[in-house]
Amino acid sequence: MSEFKLTRFAPTPSGFLHIGNIYSFIITHHLAKKNEAKVLLRIDDLDRERYKPRFVQDIFDSLDFLEIPYDQGPRDMADFEQNHAQIHRLPLYNKALEELRNKKVLFSCDCSRKKIEKMNPKGYYTGFCLRRNLPFDQPEITWRIKAKMHLDVPFKELNLGIVNGKLPGILTDFVVRKKDAMPSYQLTSLVDDIHYGVDLIVRGKDLWGSTIAQVYLSKFLDENNFAGNTFFHHPLIQGPNNQKLSKSSDVTSIQLLRKTGKKKEEIYGMIAEAIGLEQRPKNLEEFSGLIK
Ligand SMILES: [Zn+2]
Repeated sequence: MSEFKLTRFAPTPSGFLHIGNIYSFIITHHLAKKNEAKVLLRIDDLDRERYKPRFVQDIFDSLDFLEIPYDQGPRDMADFEQNHAQIHRLPLYNKALEELRNKKVLFSCDCSRKKIEKMNPKGYYTGFCLRRNLPFDQPEITWRIKAKMHLDVPFKELNLGIVNGKLPGILTDFVVRKKDAMPSYQLTSLVDDIHYGVDLIVRGKDLWGSTIAQVYLSKFLDENNFAGNTFFHHPLIQGPNNQKLSKSSDVTSIQLLRKTGKKKEEIYGMIAEAIGLEQRPKNLEEFSGLIK
């Protein structure tokens, strides 16, 4: 039965891929297969402060080394730069920002991160600029969407059905356009998923709040079915000493494991061990039926 048409891998090239990213790809691959959906590789590169070409190259190399296939998206670095980089979709992001602005759901804000932390120790936005009516078109100004903390946003979670999401405090009045005038992650991720027709979104539990923000945001954009999509938030793999894996500490990065002579089978074995499986699958397909 093909309930879904398209899902995606959406790595950010701000570091080398680690076993947690691969775990996410394994789940995505098997859910796609089970549902006869296609997989799109989408590289979220718009945050150019953290972007490095070698991290994009690393995505191709790691997928190739671990023999993880995908159906759509860039095949190599040149194809990526020419046809798939997010900068090519800047007009789409700006169109969405215009729609939001016309619907009068945005406000502009000149608060620094420091100032926000001073007003709220947890860094939750307190709505300081909500009624200041600062002009939208001026340099160094952030655009935020009016969104109250704990706002109810129901969405469809795979295996659970409709769940009641509540916007986390840290995403109160979240940013849709950054002060460098570029669209924020929440906006680009949403607009891309709508643009490509993604209807099954697989991501780590750390992005639960982003799902809520994006479903909320989607309701203000013209004609889209994003709020009808199905989501699957998978658990995160813990690193050594139960630490969260990150792209900046690369002890579990695929490129380092490869450099130290690890074979494909051993990397799959490490992932199986990290998620507590008794079996030791040697390749992508052997994970079928072993993971939920
Ligand atoms: Zn402000």
